[in-house]
Amino acid sequence: MSDCGSGSCSSGGCSDDKDRLPPGMLSVYDLNQQTGLGTLIWAETVRNGDSVTLHHCVLEILGKITEISDDRVFAMIVGNTDVKPLYKILFEHGVDTVYHIRGIDDYSVGAYAEALADLSVRVNPMSLIVPGTPRGREVAPLTAALLKTGLTADCTELSMEDGKLTMTRPAFGGDLLATIVCDKHPQMATVRPGIFTAKEPVKGRQGTAIMRPFSPRSKIQVIEESSISEGYDISDAKILISLGNGVKDRSAVEIAERIASLIGAKVSCSRALAEKGWFDHSRQVGQSGRAVSPDLYLAFGISGSSQHMAGVRAKRIISINNDPDAPINALSDKCIIGDTTEILKAMLRSLEQ
Ligand code: FAD
Repeated sequence: MSDCGSGSCSSGGCSDDKDRLPPGMLSVYDLNQQTGLGTLIWAETVRNGDSVTLHHCVLEILGKITEISDDRVFAMIVGNTDVKPLYKILFEHGVDTVYHIRGIDDYSVGAYAEALADLSVRVNPMSLIVPGTPRGREVAPLTAALLKTGLTADCTELSMEDGKLTMTRPAFGGDLLATIVCDKHPQMATVRPGIFTAKEPVKGRQGTAIMRPFSPRSKIQVIEESSISEGYDISDAKILISLGNGVKDRSAVEIAERIASLIGAKVSCSRALAEKGWFDHSRQVGQSGRAVSPDLYLAFGISGSSQHMAGVRAKRIISINNDPDAPINALSDKCIIGDTTEILKAMLRSLEQ
């Protein structure tokens, strides 16, 4: 290899001698080859004031990818020096090489998609996986268009054989599960948050970080941003109090919120209550809502339709229903037979005492 344009270099010179590769460069890639190696993941970050963390979906994707493939794992992270502590978390969850993109100050779909596409051309991965978050869902299609490849959005299952990624996602309004393969590469997917399980970190596992300055050419400029949902994230809750159509009295919503604040829980709902306008759609659990994986799911007046339960991956479910034969009871660890509002009131009384 004679020039940097044909390989994945971050700094230093290039060499044909593998023993003299620049720091962080794992091997020489042939960009002309039809298929690449490994999986590249966008390690999306979440900022809250001065703190920056990885979106939980990133660790969930890593849990799945390291389960289905032994191949290399690359991650792209964008930010300033404050994202450096996140390298360690990525390495301990299976990433071999972190590419740290510098030069993009604020989030912009055009700049992020360009950076991801540019890195993908450099790294030449077999698969490119993006969290199915609101940002991921806009960055991924633009990246796919730049790379002239296909995209399977909102995957709920992934498997891999000899580098060939099989992607499964709900189709036709959720009545069918479609299993999709992509003939082009990279094989691109977005993954629904809350579906896969993050693995325990392998303490002390190390990897390589490569700093990559990047100047986006994108002309897309964000003039103003306004939220179309209340921005309440139920997908990271450890305890969820979920209300359904069996909650007849709207005052029960306030009682549930008070209980939630006392026990560190969040309040979600079935589609029935989102459609009634009692809750923002972002709180709806299920196939056309959010996927959740709490330790405890308290289902108040929820029948347990397949569409609702498609979003529930809870360690324990307790159902509160006045019908002993409600389908959800068969899927629950415990069932309380009674009226939703009365039981919510009793819970609050007991917690306040
Ligand atoms: P119901 O089915 O009406 O059940 C109410 C339950 O409350 C019953 O079990 C009843 O016994 C009990 N009950 C009644 N009164 C009381 C009381 N006083 N005290 C205690 N219990 C009581 N739904 C979702 O939730 N999420 C989705 O993402 C979703 N996506 C969908 C996608 C498609 C394409 C389709 C077709 C449907 C989807 N649905 C979804 C709708 C789903 O099929 C059900 O209609 C919905 O989940 C029912 O909500 P529910 O269980 O709250 O209400």
